[in-house]
Amino acid sequence: MLCLGIESTAHTFSCAVLEKKAKKGKILADVRKIYRPPDGEGIHPREASRHHVENSSKVLSETLQKAKVNVGDLDIVAYAAGPGLGPCLRVGAVVARSLSSYYQIPIYPVNHAIGHIELGKLLTGAKNPLVLLVSGGHTMLLAFMIGKWRVFGETLDITLGQLLDQFGRSLGFASPCGKQIEQLANKSSTYIPLPYVVKGNDVSFSGLLSATKSIVSKGIENSCFSLQETAFAMISEAVERALAFTNKKELLIVGGVAANTRLSEMLQSVCKRQNCKFFASPLKYSGDCGSQIAWTGLLESSVKNGTNLDETFVRQSWRLDSVNVDY
Ligand code: AMP
Ligand code: MG
Repeated sequence: MLCLGIESTAHTFSCAVLEKKAKKGKILADVRKIYRPPDGEGIHPREASRHHVENSSKVLSETLQKAKVNVGDLDIVAYAAGPGLGPCLRVGAVVARSLSSYYQIPIYPVNHAIGHIELGKLLTGAKNPLVLLVSGGHTMLLAFMIGKWRVFGETLDITLGQLLDQFGRSLGFASPCGKQIEQLANKSSTYIPLPYVVKGNDVSFSGLLSATKSIVSKGIENSCFSLQETAFAMISEAVERALAFTNKKELLIVGGVAANTRLSEMLQSVCKRQNCKFFASPLKYSGDCGSQIAWTGLLESSVKNGTNLDETFVRQSWRLDSVNVDY
């Protein structure tokens, strides 16, 4: 079974072809083109969608070429239907609908956040994990129970990715800024106290963002170090409580911020204390990509027929805990 997956929720336009045989999945090709806003600025939805329109045809043909398949060989096409930026989501949906209607290929709208989780499970082999989803769009602690991914904790305001990106942009860095902040943080070990806000299993980052901006005069490297230490300790506390409560024996971290080594290090020590196995999505696939959409489409196709073209909407705010997972 072959699926073309299309991702276009925010900064990335990506296509991927995956093959599913029994329960095994194989990535045949995954091609991406990422919109980069000017230094110090965030994603402009209209500019990002223009980028996606301009690159969609090249990304698609390169993907098919790399996978060595023709459009006619595809069994299904899946696209990220949300959550995300409306103008960006529409580009992926239009490409998917065009292929589906012209070539008569069944179409599957996929929840982007569930895509992060399913691809993480496929690539790490985690079976029944507590999931930490940390990206530009999400900061959530999730466990699968009775047909749905249930939220055990989340951010009350901005996401962990937004915290890092907004702090980086205030310094004039190019977005996304997580990697640059990590590199600067690695050069310091001076901790400057910052507000630490955990409420139950939820976290709040907006006060931490303002406070970190106010300590920049004490050194950019020290600020980046203190920001990472505080935010990641808050996340680790919530993870540890959720592990103790759910009694899960696996922790899986997915989403763009999963690329951060210091976060992994802190979570690994939590796992050690809780006698739990630690899994992190491989670096290349922790951020947004077509593979997460293609794999979830393939899983859905094992229990569902494709969606009627008239119902292939996009949904900017589509929470993953509203999705029934039957596969
Ligand atoms: P996603 O939305 O899943 O594509 O993830 C993008 C987010 O991941 C952005 O907020 C980036 O700043 C963040 N990110 C990428 N690499 C790193 C890193 N090494 N450390 C922390 N955050 C990162
Ligand atoms: Mg994402």
